[in-house]
Amino acid sequence: MKPTRTAICGFGLRGRLFHNIYIASQLSLLWRNQPIDESPRHHDYFDLQPPTEGLGTAFQLSSDAALNTALDPPISSINKEGLSTEQIRRIDRLTDLAGRYAELAMKDGTIMPRLLESNVAAAMIFNSASSSSRTGELNLNTGVACGPRGLIGEAAELMTEEALKLAKEYLPWLVIRVRYEVVVSNIDFSNPGFPVLTVVDVKTGEEMTGIDFVYNLVIKCTGTTFEIPVSGEVKENAFTGVPNSIDLTTYLTQQKIFDNEKKKIIPGKKLLIGGTSLSAFDFIGMIVTKTNIVEFNHQTRTFTINEEEAQRNQNLITLFNRTEGIFGASRHLPNSVTNLDSDLVNPEMILSLGLQKNADTYPTILELARILTAYKKQKLPSQIEKNISTIDQIEYMAAENELLARNPDAVTEIALFRKWIRCCVFTHTMGPDQVQQRAWLERKYNHLVRSHGWLNFRTMSYNIYHRPGIEEREHELHCHARRIAFNCIAATPYEIHNLITRLYKLGVVSWTQGAYEDVVWSSKTKKFELKGYQVDGLIAPRRLTQKTDMLSEKILKQAKRLKVGEPRYEKGRFLKNPSEEYLHLIDLGFTGHGIQWYDTNAAEGAFQLMPIVVDMIVILETLISDTNLKGDELEKPVNELLKLHKSVLPTNQEFNQQINRMEEPHRNITHMILYARLVEKVFGNGKSFARKMRQGKTIGARERVIALIADIPRAQEALEEFERDWQNYKFDPVNAQEFERMTPDFSLEHMQAMKRIFEQRCHQGNHVPHLS
Ligand SMILES: Cc1cc2nc3c(=O)[nH]c(=O)nc-3n(C[C@H](O)[C@H](O)[C@H](O)COP(=O)(O)OP(=O)(O)OC[C@H]3O[C@@H](n4cnc5c(N)ncnc54)[C@H](O)[C@@H]3O)c2cc1C
Repeated sequence: MKPTRTAICGFGLRGRLFHNIYIASQLSLLWRNQPIDESPRHHDYFDLQPPTEGLGTAFQLSSDAALNTALDPPISSINKEGLSTEQIRRIDRLTDLAGRYAELAMKDGTIMPRLLESNVAAAMIFNSASSSSRTGELNLNTGVACGPRGLIGEAAELMTEEALKLAKEYLPWLVIRVRYEVVVSNIDFSNPGFPVLTVVDVKTGEEMTGIDFVYNLVIKCTGTTFEIPVSGEVKENAFTGVPNSIDLTTYLTQQKIFDNEKKKIIPGKKLLIGGTSLSAFDFIGMIVTKTNIVEFNHQTRTFTINEEEAQRNQNLITLFNRTEGIFGASRHLPNSVTNLDSDLVNPEMILSLGLQKNADTYPTILELARILTAYKKQKLPSQIEKNISTIDQIEYMAAENELLARNPDAVTEIALFRKWIRCCVFTHTMGPDQVQQRAWLERKYNHLVRSHGWLNFRTMSYNIYHRPGIEEREHELHCHARRIAFNCIAATPYEIHNLITRLYKLGVVSWTQGAYEDVVWSSKTKKFELKGYQVDGLIAPRRLTQKTDMLSEKILKQAKRLKVGEPRYEKGRFLKNPSEEYLHLIDLGFTGHGIQWYDTNAAEGAFQLMPIVVDMIVILETLISDTNLKGDELEKPVNELLKLHKSVLPTNQEFNQQINRMEEPHRNITHMILYARLVEKVFGNGKSFARKMRQGKTIGARERVIALIADIPRAQEALEEFERDWQNYKFDPVNAQEFERMTPDFSLEHMQAMKRIFEQRCHQGNHVPHLS
């Protein structure tokens, strides 16, 4: 048995999850007395940041910005059968981000005073998420966004250290090396089975490559590439760093915005912040903390806005962006909406939407979300999520936030729209019994449902992106629809959003149209100017870019492409070279057109993906290590892995049995969407729309309404359109092979089955796999 060498580029959240899950699953094997192959496994981690910065672009230790999401519990797919309670606890701790975060947050009862000083937005969500138990102890609900992001960095750091310690104690054959402050600048795939890294030392600029950097496998998890959007004098005088309260105070002092004696921003001072979504919102809470605008009552644990102070700080913050109409959405989560059922659609109908061949699902799910929201709100679908100016968007969201503030059970439009988008992308379920519904769906359609929502999320774009000959127009339509959906998915916690829209209503926050290129710095006045508007400071949050991932550029140059600019990812996220050989790389970050966001959008996606990646690596390592396993074929371990995957797929007949059952739901939902279009055109007002939708819950019922519509002279054109579209409609589902190609990841279920087969094969050949 040979040693193997794996390089992990990027030691952010996904790199660390790989590290911890790998160790946890090996400990589980060991502690369950399963045989372990002890031939050396070298895992080298590379990260360009110093260890003092913590991880990644979101969870640096110094980040005082607020979390946007809930946190994940321990990975459940690690086998813990027969382990003692203490062993389970030790294994779970390695991946229990939620638990570790809560531990840190609640450690010494000092977090709230700290947050009230650094970021009132993080204090607000922490306050909402924490509640006192009967014994007076404070509990934290990690099922919602609940504090500052830096604490994730701290928790992840502790979890990594603990895993490393256990690995050293129990897994001597696992040789882990973490190298900080080194950039992986290139990977040479001249020999696709032996990638060679080029690594640059950040401090010295020294470039290293050659024999010491030859690996069997590489995982690329370098996260999302960001760029600082300003340069020259503007950059020198702007704040472009990690959202940290102390750094921000230093900047504001330097710009003479901050009164160091009063420890507050000087009323009348003005700031520009680039952007109108999450990264820009990160700073608002921190800036407001440096005024007297938000007050906290320690007895009642409530926040209030001091309107006089708001008056004194008019126009403190002006947000700007190049184009109109984009404003980060609010994450309304009232139970009244979460548990709302629908009498127009069911889970099978929603599931069927993603299975039509070559369809771009995003525009359809947006239309459906508009219809279902309009139906409930007695509006027209075209009135939902309209293309309106930014100011109108903010006004609209302010009204929605106010509604929820007055009544926590209110059914807001934002919440409804978000619910239906999430239902289509992640869960396919609705109503109060979502867990049972989902289990039923997974049982009935086990070949069509992926147990993890984020796998579906990726599939929904993969289908269209990887279609040969996709037109630029289709691509634009897809990106536009997806952007709207993303805005709802990655929304801002309600408490923070409400703070922002209230500050807007009070004149503290405003918006203007302008681009970074329009911003100038005057060294004479020591002020910035945007189209004639003068301000004292500029905050330029780092922005997502499609172009700055140099490592990807270099990798993709060596890979076969579907068409210019488009990499082609095979099942398992492998790339091939032009000679059709697999590169020994698992690329956890699609590139081009900004789609890295697919993999790096939320920690939850990483928690769903990384257990699968760990198993893939364990199988590949075993294949590479065990030279006797299958003679020559061993030269192509990726082919072996993919063969293994093929062996667990359903037969065409099994797949067709399930997909054919999708015809009726797909016909039904398509008919319903076409009917909704017809009804909107003919009746043109929200009340009638809702009434007609209520009357048309089945194809038969809709046909009866349509027969009556046929008598209305003004309805003829719309009716013809409906007839034409309905006659042209055909259920043309993907086949088993296309379905598999649509999702770049192995599903968890397939991976479990692959592991079982692989283990059996290894045991037959008297080999010891590192699997559970
Ligand atoms: C501003 C912001 C806020 C976010 N907020 C949330 C949130 O509230 N909740 C949530 O779930 N998700 C949030 N996310 C998403 C979050 O980034 C992901 O959940 C997750 O961190 C992605 O993990 P990763 O390992 O892919 O990337 P990262 O955690 O970013 O790690 C990538 C690592 O690779 C390193 N690296 C990059 N290039 C190289 C190279 N060439 N060589 C060596 N090292 C390299 C980087 O230094 C970094 O440490 C946020 C993202 C951003 C940008």
